[in-house]
Amino acid sequence: MAAGNAEPAGTRLVMARYGELFLKSEPVKRHFIGMLLRNIRKALAAAGRTCKYETPRGRILIYGDDPEQVAAIVSRIFGIVDVSICIRTTADLAALSEAGLFLALPNLSAGMSFAVRAKRQYKTGLNSQELGMEVGSHIYDHIPGLTVDLDEPEYEVFVEVRDFGGLVYDKRIPGPGGLPWGTQGRVLVLLSAGIDSPVASWLAMKRGCEITHLYLDAGRWAGTDVTAAAIDNHRKLSLWCSGNPASLVIANNEPLFDRMSQLKVPPRYRCVICKRFMQMVAGRMMAHEGALAIVTGENLGQVASQTLANLGVIADAATVPILRPLITYDKEETITIARRIGTFEAKPGDLACRAVPKMPATAAVLDEVKELEQQMGMDELVETACTGLRFVTALDGRIMEDRTAPQS
Ligand code: ATP
Ligand code: MG
Repeated sequence: MAAGNAEPAGTRLVMARYGELFLKSEPVKRHFIGMLLRNIRKALAAAGRTCKYETPRGRILIYGDDPEQVAAIVSRIFGIVDVSICIRTTADLAALSEAGLFLALPNLSAGMSFAVRAKRQYKTGLNSQELGMEVGSHIYDHIPGLTVDLDEPEYEVFVEVRDFGGLVYDKRIPGPGGLPWGTQGRVLVLLSAGIDSPVASWLAMKRGCEITHLYLDAGRWAGTDVTAAAIDNHRKLSLWCSGNPASLVIANNEPLFDRMSQLKVPPRYRCVICKRFMQMVAGRMMAHEGALAIVTGENLGQVASQTLANLGVIADAATVPILRPLITYDKEETITIARRIGTFEAKPGDLACRAVPKMPATAAVLDEVKELEQQMGMDELVETACTGLRFVTALDGRIMEDRTAPQS
């Protein structure tokens, strides 16, 4: 049998790399890695996988059945920069070369270019460059017609020699990066049926926040499919905190629009008052949800209600910090993320807001807005919206519970 055809002696495992955690002090790093491992364990357990783990410096090694599925799950965990399915060997050159050839054989043929990228943890014996050349020569000698191209190879083999032995792999599956879910505390995300707020929620999770979603249901003032689309956004986002139930709170703001209509509030102020109302309702729920900040999908200049002046008037209604992860994004940048995270796909049905005026105010005057809210009895409207709430819990892309609290 030609060298490399047989399965090389070694275990297949999944290696995950984490990024920014390196910048932390030792105790913080230990805490964050613990959270990362907990999140990985939960996500794998949710898929019915029990694995074994090792955490050599800068890496998480995961041993278990079906490394392909394990790699796919782990590559969705926040904090993970990339994931590779590796052959674990001894640090012996012959074993590393055999493993490299084993990976290369089905992927390389005459006329193709390749490179071996090697790294060594210790500075004895062959250096990294020499190690790469040795493994590369072994591949070159066994597959006719190859060329070596270190700049833009068609195929790459990676070899790492560490204190515990060798790891050989040929793919790096990108992860989302960021910080482990749960390391930064909880935020309350104003989630709509749209494209922006699911991306804002995902970006908050990516920076380590746990999330509670809050959706305001405008009843007959909203299109008939809006609530279902918002719940679907919530369901899809739950795939990104796998193993952890995600909560959506639905509050009713139909009475707000009814009151604005009855009192003939100038239509141009509707959007700003609606967004201030959302801040007030969210503010009321913060303590109960254990949240420290509010996240929105607002974006500078995207629509008339999101001018700098209006964002200031909206922020005036908030009692806690508002985080706006998309504030400077172009729509295309937001859509690129939405596609990647699975929340972009066109939502069918009637999603229009029936309250949006033809010409919303671009520079609402705070004193006028407050005067109108006084006349509307805003406090009482907020109070009403916070009773009879609906709670929808999603886990791993499935709705687990949908209940409405009794009106108090
Ligand atoms: P999105 O901005 O999420 O695409 P949208 O375009 O329908 O939705 P905007 O008018 O741009 O909504 O609202 C700005 C932000 O206000 C949203 O990104 C979201 O955070 C929040 N928001 C809007 N509508 C709702 C709602 N019905 N419930 C909760 N939050 C909402
Ligand atoms: Mg928007």
